[in-house]
Amino acid sequence: MKLCMKKKYIKTLFFLVFLFFISGCITEVDPLSGKKTYTLLSTEQEIKIGQKIIPSAINETEGVYPDPEVQKYIRDIGYKISSLTPRKVDYQFYIVNSSEVNAFALPGGPIFITRGLLLKMDKECELAGVLAHELGHINARHHAKFLEKNFGMSILLSILGIAIQDSGYASLVMTLAEVSASLLQLKFSRDQENEADTLGVDFSYKAGYDPKGLLIMFEKFKTLQRTTTVEWLSTHPLPDTRIKKVKEMISQRYPVSSRLIVDTEGFQRILTSVKATAESYEYVEKAKRYIRSANYYEALNLLDKAIQLYGSNQAYTYRAMVNMNLKRYKEAAEDADKAIKVDRLYFKPFLIKGISLTKLGQYSESINTLEKAKLLIGNNPDLYYWLGVDYQAVGDKFKAIDNLSTALQLTDGSRGWESDAKRRLRTLRGY
Ligand SMILES: [Zn+2]
Repeated sequence: MKLCMKKKYIKTLFFLVFLFFISGCITEVDPLSGKKTYTLLSTEQEIKIGQKIIPSAINETEGVYPDPEVQKYIRDIGYKISSLTPRKVDYQFYIVNSSEVNAFALPGGPIFITRGLLLKMDKECELAGVLAHELGHINARHHAKFLEKNFGMSILLSILGIAIQDSGYASLVMTLAEVSASLLQLKFSRDQENEADTLGVDFSYKAGYDPKGLLIMFEKFKTLQRTTTVEWLSTHPLPDTRIKKVKEMISQRYPVSSRLIVDTEGFQRILTSVKATAESYEYVEKAKRYIRSANYYEALNLLDKAIQLYGSNQAYTYRAMVNMNLKRYKEAAEDADKAIKVDRLYFKPFLIKGISLTKLGQYSESINTLEKAKLLIGNNPDLYYWLGVDYQAVGDKFKAIDNLSTALQLTDGSRGWESDAKRRLRTLRGY
């Protein structure tokens, strides 16, 4: 085991030096200025990092919105605008279940918009404005600049983490987790917000939209902020000077024309269908409050109502969680499975299904489920603990030790299974 780890370290070091060498030599053409610039992070590596973080983003925003027609509509508008932007990366657009009011981009192309934000919109040009603003951040390489400045060499480590993700290598896994967490909380500078606004207004105009869409959303955020939390504002600061700048820019550079798209029937159709599912999501939000105070039967009652109205992956996932807490493992595994069937990128139901199967004594099925979950998010300590338990049960000593020790390295000490994991390790190691 120790020798094997050593070999892994040597391999890691070589690969790291190699990566540093090739990365140090990268020159890229800046998509906006057309000039050659030196960078630590190539576009290809930036795309790789963004891709790797998609499941974490989806998990934190409670799964993708399950209606494929709505997804397609958002994607089509996203592609229409992104195809006209100078930077060629892997653009992807997702609407996610979260009730928060938020939109954000990841390095190299993925853009997320919450259901909660969509519900605050009235017209298609508003959606175009928000998507175009996020495309502005990607085109100006704001994520890459942030990663280069804050992580430097560690980015290479995290890319390395991506390359050997199956090894359960705690330190590398943690570097990637850090990169991932910082990207999901990334707050841009005032200058970067202004740059994304300028680009976004231009991109939406070029795609044929009334560029006032973004401005309308800014004003809505300001009003909403008085009564509720607007998550978008916590990562995209919005001082009055910024609104003023956008207003001036639009009136000076973008003449009013009747040909500009303000709204469409298609957008109204998807908005109506998203509004029709809102009541189900409200039940889930209420249930979440009961779950936090461990009132599982009240939560279960509300989740049943939510599912009767609209069986979203989010509602099934929370009901699975409640069933698991009530030790109804068969029901928990079944609910989690329903969520997985509509959303294969959502980590939480995979974890719940895996744990429930362990509790039911179905160890191989649990391993199968949890190994899939590990490919989505590789730094969850519970995942490693339960995999360790499974592998021990099926007699795979090496994998049991590997997973249990990774679990102990990743945990913050508050999970409740730590002493059991240590006991299992002592037994497995024979002392
Ligand atoms: Zn922004």
